[in-house]
Amino acid sequence: ADRKRRAAAVIEEVERSLSTPTALLRSIADAMVSEMERGLRGDIHSQLKMLISYVDNLPTGDEHGLYYALDLGGTNFRVLRVQLGGREKRVVKQQYEEVSIPPHLMVGSSMELFDFIAAALAKFVDTEAEDFHLPEGRQRELGFTFSFPVNQISISSGTLIKWTKGFSVNGTVGADVVSELSKAMERQGLDMKVTALVNDTVGTLAGGRYMDNDVVAAVILGTGTNAAYVEHANAIPKWTGLLPKSGNMVINTEWGSFKSDKLPLSEYDKAMDFESLNPGEQIYEKMISGMYLGEIVRRILLKLAHDASLFGDVVPSKLEQPFVLRTPDMSAMHHDSSHDLKILGAKLKDIVGVADTSLEVRYITRHICDLVAERGARLAAAGIYSILKKIGRDKVPSNGSKMPRTVIALDGGLYEHYKKFSSCVETTLTDLLGEEASSSVVAKLANDGSGIGAALLAASHSQYA
Ligand code: ADP
Ligand code: MG
Repeated sequence: ADRKRRAAAVIEEVERSLSTPTALLRSIADAMVSEMERGLRGDIHSQLKMLISYVDNLPTGDEHGLYYALDLGGTNFRVLRVQLGGREKRVVKQQYEEVSIPPHLMVGSSMELFDFIAAALAKFVDTEAEDFHLPEGRQRELGFTFSFPVNQISISSGTLIKWTKGFSVNGTVGADVVSELSKAMERQGLDMKVTALVNDTVGTLAGGRYMDNDVVAAVILGTGTNAAYVEHANAIPKWTGLLPKSGNMVINTEWGSFKSDKLPLSEYDKAMDFESLNPGEQIYEKMISGMYLGEIVRRILLKLAHDASLFGDVVPSKLEQPFVLRTPDMSAMHHDSSHDLKILGAKLKDIVGVADTSLEVRYITRHICDLVAERGARLAAAGIYSILKKIGRDKVPSNGSKMPRTVIALDGGLYEHYKKFSSCVETTLTDLLGEEASSSVVAKLANDGSGIGAALLAASHSQYA
């Protein structure tokens, strides 16, 4: 009885500290909009970097030819080639390969990481078959999707600002990542030119627009989280170049670094942040994205094990190990709808090492997964809502005209695979927008749009175009 009481007290405190009432989400969205404006002004203290992507034209559908893309962003990287057939034939053929990055390379030296990538790319290029066509005398061209914050000075160059997620590679911060990659390709004897360097959000936006003309923003919910959108070039005070002909510029918000005292930051978040590779940074990302959700759940379960003997008299030692509980496992536990929560029980046995958990313990565990996922999804929806506010697509125009169809392209393993998470993002967004505006807003899964998007941008920025 005493255990139960103590468990209830912890759970109540967790519920309280993770709660995200709609009014709070609205004020978080307002804070994000003002940070966006600060970032666009070039205020160095802004939470959001609002990076200029140098993409002022999104794909039109006319792109054609053979292009490669390389996507480096998280646990895996992908190489892809696509044969584009112009307006009539569109994507004629595409092939891709996924390679997982050995963990030691994520915290090693820059040269080792880029050599590994270039070697995998060279191997992939070797398998190019007859049905892909490179015109005589032309160099192969590549769009490089790089999902870390980069200061770009052109569409095809940029220096790394900082590593995020699980990466902490020596010697890359401050270096031009295109030149790092190009030198590594040369070392491999691979003759290929990087014609576009894009963030994954920008690639997803480009790929999304190619598939649907009404796409105005892209959001990644994967290992990390980030968003990009189409801004009016004249709404970017820090842009000092010529106004692009299109009048538009794609902005990479780098919203993962958003921080605000409005964010419901719990003791678990604070402890996780403190022990992370990048303490004090990427606070919004740490509350939302796939790298962290399972770890937050683990920390709460550990507290319950300590304070309320959730897993018996001794605290299971496996539960003490950071990151043992991965977000895909959390998702599997959360989705267990069997009457005795069998799947969840098996996961607990696997991960925590406790064989026979009571039904009550399983229910508590599922409830914790629910709380952590719901907070993340609702915060992500607030972010999407803030972008819609920023571009004036959050409500029906006051002049009586119809609100244009507005599509958000979403990608990332978390959004794609964690059903309860993605449906919560959608219902929360609908709630924030209200019935009328939300009927014009569509959240669309742009599965692996960033790869195709990078290839499309490589095409439109080809040295031969
Ligand atoms: P990245 O973000 O690294 O480029 P992905 O978009 O493929 O790569 O996202 C991978 C992330 O998605 C994983 O780190 C994991 O957190 C999350 N994820 C993958 N599968 C699932 C799943 N079944 N349930 C919940 N999260 C998942
Ligand atoms: Mg990715």
